[in-house]
Formats: sequence, C-alpha cells, structure tokens
Amino acid sequence: MQDGLMLIISGPSGSGKGTVVKKLCGIDDFALSISMTTRQPREGELHGKDYIFCTEEEFFATRDSNGFLEHATFSGHYYGTPISYVEEKIAQGMSVVLEIEVVGALQVKNVYPDALLIFLVPPTFEELRSRLKDRGTENDDEIERRIRRAKEEMEELAKYDYLVINDDIDTALEEIRGIVRAEKLKPKRSQSKIDIFFGNNDK
Ligand code: 5GP
Repeated sequence: MQDGLMLIISGPSGSGKGTVVKKLCGIDDFALSISMTTRQPREGELHGKDYIFCTEEEFFATRDSNGFLEHATFSGHYYGTPISYVEEKIAQGMSVVLEIEVVGALQVKNVYPDALLIFLVPPTFEELRSRLKDRGTENDDEIERRIRRAKEEMEELAKYDYLVINDDIDTALEEIRGIVRAEKLKPKRSQSKIDIFFGNNDK
C-alpha cells in the first residue's frame, strides 16, 4: 500500500459507527466503501448509498466470482465488500473507509496487513441496549441477537489497533481523526514524501 489508508471501523449496532463514518467522509478525504447485503432496507435507506441491496443469488454469484474483498454473515444475512471499488481507490493512493463487522475486518487485515482497525463502542452495555431500543429499527429478538453478537465481537478487541468510546459523537469523531492523522505520519505510510525528499518523485 502506498500513502492511501485502509480504515476499518467496527463496533456493535448502536455504537454510532454509521454516523461517525459519514461525518468522517464529509470532513476528510475518504472514499466510503458501499457493501452488498441480502438484508432488507430499513426505512430511509437507499440502494447504492447505504448498501447495494441484493438477493442471495446475486450475493453468491459475486462471491463465487471472487468479487468480494471480504464477506460475512450477520444476524442471518450476508454482507460483503465489493473488491473493485476498494482496489481502484487504493491504487489511486486514496484512503478508503469500511464500516464492517469483526469477521470481515480480520479477513481484510489478512489481505492488507497495514489496514487500520478501530473499534467503536458506547460507554456501557446498558447504553448500547437503550440506543438499539430507542432507534426502533429492530424488534426485541433482533436487539437481543445483536447484543449477543456485540459480546462475541468484543472478544476480538485485542486484534484491533484502537478502541474509541462513543459517549459523545463529536469527541469520538475527533479521536478517530487524531488516530488517522498520526497513522498517516508513520514512515510505512509515507513513501511519496520519502520519494520527494530524495528527489525521486517521478517514480
Ligand atoms: P446493519 O444490518 O446494522 O446495517 O449491519 C450489521 C453489521 O454488518 C454491522 O456490524 C455492519 O458494520 C456490518 N457490515 C456492513 N457491511 C458489511 C460488509 O460489507 N462486510 C462485513 N463483514 N460486515 C458488514
């Protein structure tokens, strides 16, 4: 990978990662990867903007033609990151952000070891439960499934680079931006600056 950063944000449903990612893309120069999913759209969600909503057949066809960078199941539905968009942006030296769950995040880390993995959580489990209830997009069974999944996901926390607590969305956003700024200064992500330093910038 050259100077572009592959940023992955994971965290339980209700952690606020969708909001943080959208704000991040509005401020900084990140390309947002749009996932394919077999889940039904929620009210207000748009095809091609929030997700590429697809049938299982379409999902399997993409998977079988190696069209995913990673894919996973979540709460009975399939989710996957189309590889073409991510590879195109990374090849252009752009930074890309993926908002995906833990199994997929660790698959990406295998392919792109320099991917930056950030895990976002609310301050407490109780807060998580009440955020899920308040947003009213899932029924009680689904909320309990998502809470159980959140506990499982947190067992993989040590494989992430950073943990950000989302008590206040703007503070969490600034913490993530701070992490990204520092990461971009790492020598391994600064090849073009090093080339300029040595006068090799046409390479
Ligand atoms: P939701 O149904 O709430 O939109 O998403 C459920 C979970 O799937 C969330 O943790 C979300 O980050 C994750 N997710 C969304 N897109 C992808 C994807 O392309 N790959 C993987 N592995 N997870 C995804």
